[in-house]
Amino acid sequence: MDPQTQFCPNSNCPARGKSGKNNIVVHSRKEARYKCRACGKTFAATRGTPFYRLRYSDDLVTCILTLIAFGCPLQAIVAAFRLDERTVMDWQARAGQHCQGLHQQLVEQPRDLEHVQADEIRVKAQGKALWLAMAIMVRTRLWLGAAVSPSRDEDLLEALFRHGRASALARPLLVVSDGLRAYCAVIVAAFRSALPARGRGRPHLVRWPDICIGQVAKQYQGKRVVGIHRNLLQGTAAMAARLIQTSRGGTDLNTAFIERLNATFRSRLASLARRSRALLRKPETLTPLVYLMGSVYNFCSEHQSLRLKLWVGSHGYRWVKRTPAMAAGIADHCWTVKELLLVRIPPPAWKPGHRGRHSLEEKRLLAKWSE
Ligand SMILES: [Zn+2]
Repeated sequence: MDPQTQFCPNSNCPARGKSGKNNIVVHSRKEARYKCRACGKTFAATRGTPFYRLRYSDDLVTCILTLIAFGCPLQAIVAAFRLDERTVMDWQARAGQHCQGLHQQLVEQPRDLEHVQADEIRVKAQGKALWLAMAIMVRTRLWLGAAVSPSRDEDLLEALFRHGRASALARPLLVVSDGLRAYCAVIVAAFRSALPARGRGRPHLVRWPDICIGQVAKQYQGKRVVGIHRNLLQGTAAMAARLIQTSRGGTDLNTAFIERLNATFRSRLASLARRSRALLRKPETLTPLVYLMGSVYNFCSEHQSLRLKLWVGSHGYRWVKRTPAMAAGIADHCWTVKELLLVRIPPPAWKPGHRGRHSLEEKRLLAKWSE
């Protein structure tokens, strides 16, 4: 137990969410509880993680969630570990929610994306199909998030590019997708910034400059690809070519990187069709599962193509494998699934409640725990 890396989760505490401030001490090693000296409250070490208040060991829960993240069918887990189906579903929902929060906190931070590819896959659910749209940053292979919808339409793409917008800096950016017509308008609308309004009324939204939009439409004859149409719908060919080159994303407009990612997800989601009765009736049960899979992909899976030749002390030069999160500078090593599940997301900093007028005591507390 390391109190230096912990923070107080109490929403009324002036030191909430702060770590390394010496306010957290070990309360009980046996029960794995910490105590906050600022508010005097104690909390479990697993508070804010999927393990909080579970009756099963962390290692068993981690094992089951790893199997789920790699597409092991629920029925197989239930049979092998003699667990109740609802228990496993509850763990999956907890882990999915946790990973969604983690993704928002760590991945959806503004970064220079350069080259993004997006695509949709059809997921067979019981009696119907669902559409899953995902996007990837080409240079780091970072999975940028997903959206789920019963139909393949603007709503699906708008939800996807809300994640894309949250992860982007207003820098030159190339977005490549398949031939679905709705993409262009959705991308243009997504990458805008609000100008401060003069006087009253809605702020004016300004389009980002230097957004290139490319489409790659494949022509099929049966299952065979017989032709590829590449179209640059917005932006200059020179800028698109430069972004493809700097992101090491091939030689021409392509969707190879998102297709590779889709193949991984599709193979792991294939088991969904055979899964339990209630699982895929509702789109909302698919989203947490996809976030669990996506976070394991981002933080816990090393990529052959991301390896770097680095000087490793006495060993000389060695090829060092990296995860997408490492390539994007979010993590410094390949996380285990347990590490992923144990990350606690700090609440926003404490603010006193009285509309701007702080009491002396509140001012003292703010000064003490700010920074
Ligand atoms: Zn506290």
